[in-house]
Amino acid sequence: MEQKKIAILGATGSIGTQALEVVEQHPEQFIVEVLTAQNNADLLIAQAQKFHPDTVIIGDESQYEKVKDALASEPIKVFAGKESINKIVESGEIDFVLTAIVGFAGLEPTLNAIRAGKTIGLANKETLVVAGEIIMQEAQKYQTPIIPIDSEHSAIFQCLTGEYPNEVKKLILTASGGPFRGETFESLQGKTRADALKHPNWDMGNKITIDSASMVNKGLEVIEAHWLFNVPAEKIDIIVHPQSIIHSLVQFYDGSIKAQMGLPDMRVPIQYALSFPKRLPNNFPDFDFSDYPQLTFEKPDKTVFRSIKIAYEVLEKSGNMPCIFNAANEIAVAAFLAEQIRFTDIFEVLEKTLNKVSYLRQPKFEELMASDMEARRQAEQIIKQIKL
Ligand code: NDP
Ligand code: MG
Repeated sequence: MEQKKIAILGATGSIGTQALEVVEQHPEQFIVEVLTAQNNADLLIAQAQKFHPDTVIIGDESQYEKVKDALASEPIKVFAGKESINKIVESGEIDFVLTAIVGFAGLEPTLNAIRAGKTIGLANKETLVVAGEIIMQEAQKYQTPIIPIDSEHSAIFQCLTGEYPNEVKKLILTASGGPFRGETFESLQGKTRADALKHPNWDMGNKITIDSASMVNKGLEVIEAHWLFNVPAEKIDIIVHPQSIIHSLVQFYDGSIKAQMGLPDMRVPIQYALSFPKRLPNNFPDFDFSDYPQLTFEKPDKTVFRSIKIAYEVLEKSGNMPCIFNAANEIAVAAFLAEQIRFTDIFEVLEKTLNKVSYLRQPKFEELMASDMEARRQAEQIIKQIKL
């Protein structure tokens, strides 16, 4: 049997390291061809020594010598810089590209990988938020499968498997509610970086952990679901489910609902994307109903978490609005992590930036790049005016 040759973009992050745990369970199925990191040279070197990829790339060019020297005794190619990451995905040796880079930086390599016809395991949701229409058009044009890794989207993908061409009545995305579930707007204002980084159920990178606390993450996921499954905003609902056991649901036209369940463990959707359409065994802990006598559900509070309302409005308008939303959010999250703004200021930065950048209904790729840059510039100005 042929081994699947995989490239992991963002190998040193939360998703990247868990993807390597999956690979480790199935050496007969997968072979690591490429690993990339941005700054974490030490971990990238250790991963390369363990998995013996053909190529490693460090985004930060100043660390090229360090990585090169550390791997000098191994037959591993070492490159550095953004362009190398953007180009490597086109290599004829790669079958599967796992996009686990965080933020807008994931867009270009994902697009290149799609155009090179590599199967995509998509963790980087920002790519679809920024350029969902172009990404899905290109995937169709190049006949490139995109398999979601985000747990909600993996769940929906699994619920939809075998249902084609049955129409969908509703996609129901579950949300844990994050660390601030049940809080008031006033109590949210005083939340610190440390408070926001404490997620009840998932251990993830800092950016998505803040997005989960602000519920921007669920907004990004509504937009991601719209593009992945071609379902309009009014047919996508959010339900808060604090135990994170049901990962999402699909309701069909006869009223019947399918749910996908399991412990909150990202290795499961990562493995599913890697092995699709097969399922492989593993030694990860299994869900047991008797450990969870109660699975509960509540409506999201769209007044306190106005990020959700903003995301639906942004999706309704579409064009370059989701791109502006994403850029403003990346800047706001960075400012909050640097303790320059309060938690609730994130919402204000989103709203104000969306009002500042001109709306384009049918942006071309270059116009999206320009909207992203302009939104970042505006968001930074808005942040300067906010006094802590
Ligand atoms: P992390 O911050 O943990 O990891 C990000 C990875 O991307 C690291 O390898 C990092 O390198 C690399 N990276 C960061 N910036 C750049 C850049 N500018 N150019 C190239 N590489 C870069 O993030 P997560 O693993 O948490 O998330 C990755 C993506 O997956 C996000 O889009 C997130 O929304 C999505 N996702 C994550 C989930 C999770 O459970 N973590 C769940 C669902 C979706 P270095 O380590 O060297 O800085
Ligand atoms: Mg998710």
